[in-house]
Amino acid sequence: MKLNILRSCILIVLFFSLSSWGEKGHYKINSSCTQSFPHRIRNLKTWSAALAAHASDADKRRSQDPYEANRHYIDIDNYPGFTADHKIIENRDSAYRNYTRKFIYKNGSLPWTTDSTYHALVQNFRAKDWSRAMLTAAYMGHYIGDGHMPLHLTANYDGKFTSQSGIHDRYESKMINQYYDEITFNRSRVKKVKDVRSYIFKYIYNNYQYKDSLLAADKKAYAEAGNEYSKAYYQLLWKSTKHFTVALLANSSRSMAELIYTAWIEAGKPKIPKNLNPGE
Ligand SMILES: [Zn+2]
Repeated sequence: MKLNILRSCILIVLFFSLSSWGEKGHYKINSSCTQSFPHRIRNLKTWSAALAAHASDADKRRSQDPYEANRHYIDIDNYPGFTADHKIIENRDSAYRNYTRKFIYKNGSLPWTTDSTYHALVQNFRAKDWSRAMLTAAYMGHYIGDGHMPLHLTANYDGKFTSQSGIHDRYESKMINQYYDEITFNRSRVKKVKDVRSYIFKYIYNNYQYKDSLLAADKKAYAEAGNEYSKAYYQLLWKSTKHFTVALLANSSRSMAELIYTAWIEAGKPKIPKNLNPGE
């Protein structure tokens, strides 16, 4: 009985502490993406508040669906060949055949989940189901956001292997919450994506590199502040990670706009009604 209670407590703590960019980060990504929408999908700009309101729905599903958690990360450095080649098998069928379903379940399916959510969005656009499309776009934005959080891309997701336990929450929630007002970015230029799956893998390979900078920044801040909880520690952590953290959030928001735009084109550019109510 005691063990069960303890296990539930650990699960609750894990659920709240390892929730990707934290609610504020995902909110920022989803709410800002509409500012980069090209003119042709300008009527979808009314989605902004709704996309933000649903930015963390995918995280909340984890408490009800046992298969949801593994969609939010990929421990890519556990995948055979990644360390040598800096890439893994990208085709879903080949990946599931080669790595096995069990392995992918354990090590995370984030890129394939993002890709399948994109395809669901294409279907929603084709059906002109605007309210469903908004929700799917919000979920896709969440998974894109996770793909831009370096600690969602590594087996050392909470610094356990480098004696930096707790870094996940310190970085994505506590630090982001404290410095949220300093996170600003402008409208980006958005283009149609040629190959969606390889686009998703490309940003994952690229964003993975920042985990080393982040872990090094945590070590340095800890050494200088003498702890990992004080104001001084967070000031130092922010100072050394601000440049890439803001860029990762901005890129995430741009990618979300880019994939929504591409999904709309792939669906045959359905006419978007004017004054679209996000609830419709
Ligand atoms: Zn997540």
